[in-house]
Amino acid sequence: MKQEWAKLKDEPTFSEDGEQVELAANIGTPDDVEGVLANGGEGIGLYRTEFLYMGKSQLPTEEEQFTAYKSVLEQMEGKPVVVRTLDIGGDKELNYLDLPEELNPFLGFRAIRFCLENENVFRPQLRALLRASVYGNLKIMFPMIATLEEFRKAKAILMDEKESLLKEGFEVSNDIEVGIMVEIPSTAVIAKQFAKEVDFFSIGTNDLIQYTMAADRMNEQVSYLYQPYNPAILNLIHTVIEAAHSEDKWVGMCGEMAGDSIAIPILLGLGLDEFSMSATSILPARTQLRKLSKEKMVAYKDKILSMGTAEEVVEFIKEKTE
Ligand code: PEP
Ligand code: MG
Repeated sequence: MKQEWAKLKDEPTFSEDGEQVELAANIGTPDDVEGVLANGGEGIGLYRTEFLYMGKSQLPTEEEQFTAYKSVLEQMEGKPVVVRTLDIGGDKELNYLDLPEELNPFLGFRAIRFCLENENVFRPQLRALLRASVYGNLKIMFPMIATLEEFRKAKAILMDEKESLLKEGFEVSNDIEVGIMVEIPSTAVIAKQFAKEVDFFSIGTNDLIQYTMAADRMNEQVSYLYQPYNPAILNLIHTVIEAAHSEDKWVGMCGEMAGDSIAIPILLGLGLDEFSMSATSILPARTQLRKLSKEKMVAYKDKILSMGTAEEVVEFIKEKTE
């Protein structure tokens, strides 16, 4: 680890002009937490729970899940932990669930769409999360939300399980924030309406880019369209952040873009509150942010958002941050 980075391990994250942001990590298993803490992570911005379900011959039990969630929360000692409910489908398959073959799996029966139709899978996960909530600072996040109805349904099931658990005598935290991933353009466009009902957003740029640009994130031939700095993407991100802040809600980003050194200055200027990335990107990002002026980046915002191409954006950012 570079010396300059290592010194910042236990430091909070500030821009040059003293504006604070949070640098969190994306994880897949409880074993990943050690690396997050070793790299100065201030939280977990995305716990991809799919790994609990993958590489097995049957669904994980409520108890197995409870143990995993509790372990992550305890290891993080009160720092925020955003756990994403099951996001299978698309690039993430589960053999034992016998999901139908689809022509367009990325546009198909996945994530929250699957969970809302398969409560026998969804409810045990929610129960495990609710039971684990008393061991730390848990935030629950639903993936692939396309409509407000989906969010309302998912939240109603969560509340229903909370009530059942309390009746059964379990303890459940009263401070669990419930948010959504913004990774479908329909949700980004009406983020203002969502912001009235959710506690937070986390922008999933890996999918948001593929759905906005209509370019499969796994297809090499269209990878030239996979453009994080395309002004269309930046305008959507801007819409989401403005909407959230107008309702006093926070916004994170847990797609790859959050740890990208060209994107970081832009996202700082757009007002992103939490950046979630792979653990090893945290200290380089903290080092970079300490040298950036948020005020300056905010001043460039309108110019960047009105640009025509990703190339122009990149050129501008390189020139201004050299
Ligand atoms: C995303 O879509 O940006 C994201 C973080 O989720 P995943 O990569 O797991 O689809
Ligand atoms: Mg996604």
